[in-house]
Amino acid sequence: MGDKEQLKKRYKVVIMGSGPAGLTAALYSARANLEPLVFEGFEAGGQLTLTTDVENYPGFENGIMGPDLINTMRKQAERFGAKCLLENIDSVDLSKRPFKINAGDTEVEADSFIVASGASARMLGLPSEKELVGHGVSTCATCDGFFFKDKEIIVVGGGDSALEEGIFLTKFASKVYIVHRRDALRASKIMQDRAFKNEKVEFIWNSVVEEILGEKGKGVTGVKLENVQSGEITEMNIDGVFIAIGHIPNTKIFGGAIETDENGYIVTKDKTSETNVPGVFAAGDVQDTRYKQAITAAGSGCMAALDAEKFLEDNED
Ligand code: NAP
Repeated sequence: MGDKEQLKKRYKVVIMGSGPAGLTAALYSARANLEPLVFEGFEAGGQLTLTTDVENYPGFENGIMGPDLINTMRKQAERFGAKCLLENIDSVDLSKRPFKINAGDTEVEADSFIVASGASARMLGLPSEKELVGHGVSTCATCDGFFFKDKEIIVVGGGDSALEEGIFLTKFASKVYIVHRRDALRASKIMQDRAFKNEKVEFIWNSVVEEILGEKGKGVTGVKLENVQSGEITEMNIDGVFIAIGHIPNTKIFGGAIETDENGYIVTKDKTSETNVPGVFAAGDVQDTRYKQAITAAGSGCMAALDAEKFLEDNED
């Protein structure tokens, strides 16, 4: 982790985020002698730190644990001079260059800025869910699965995350119900096959969670489920609820200073990482509405570093 006292006033490249996109951007810009500064953010390491085995990142025949992959990427970037700070960017001024970046009591200037701030877990939006987060409601199976030994739990969602979390949770739970709002899964075929084969996994189709029952001290005791076709509401005893319904891009702090689409994803110019602000580049899940894989995030981090390097060459003062 970087030491705040040794910070410079001005950096050629500042990177927001430390998932595969941010750390690959850091590696490439460090190897180009640009001495990047990485603000790792609240969710340092990004989504990969919330996952277990990563089986589809090329180069690891037997898979690798998500946190191990991130730690290795960080060390690799640091070896070439990247500086990583475990701080969260609070505000940025992108109205003129050098840009101003504020994180707590730290302020630095940046000649170029790479946004790789990723996306955070989407929630159902129920008051009971908010109340019980950390008390039986979770968005991270690998963090909290251990607490549900021999318990019955539900996972909400029908994508790869829901199935991956559901299958992982069968290591602890006696039963995992996957509650999905439709009768067809969005998840990949391989994950569907694994889930269907797993005896501890059962699907509850065409259903949404209407309310989570429980209280802070005792945790979750049940859910009310609504069948979206019949409108019927049923109560079910359950010990835990894992929410795995996708993510929301972390672009709020820009307040419109960087162009986004209607869902908040940063818009990049055709086949580059360039945003509408010259000198600001975007990489990884914050701009990816389609692929959202660790390897595509890393690839786009590389693109952002190369684009930033070219921008700095073209705009030397
Ligand atoms: P996702 O693919 O966007 O799936 C989100 C799921 O949640 C969908 O099934 C969606 O239902 C449901 N959903 C969304 N909002 C909801 C709401 N308000 N109430 C109830 N259900 C709701 O997200 P993801 O599963 O997190 O995956 C994101 C990306 O990461 C994907 O590209 C995926 O392939 C990738 N990923 C890959 C792996 C792997 O390869 N092992 C593992 C994890 C993630 P609908 O289907 O009805 O829209």
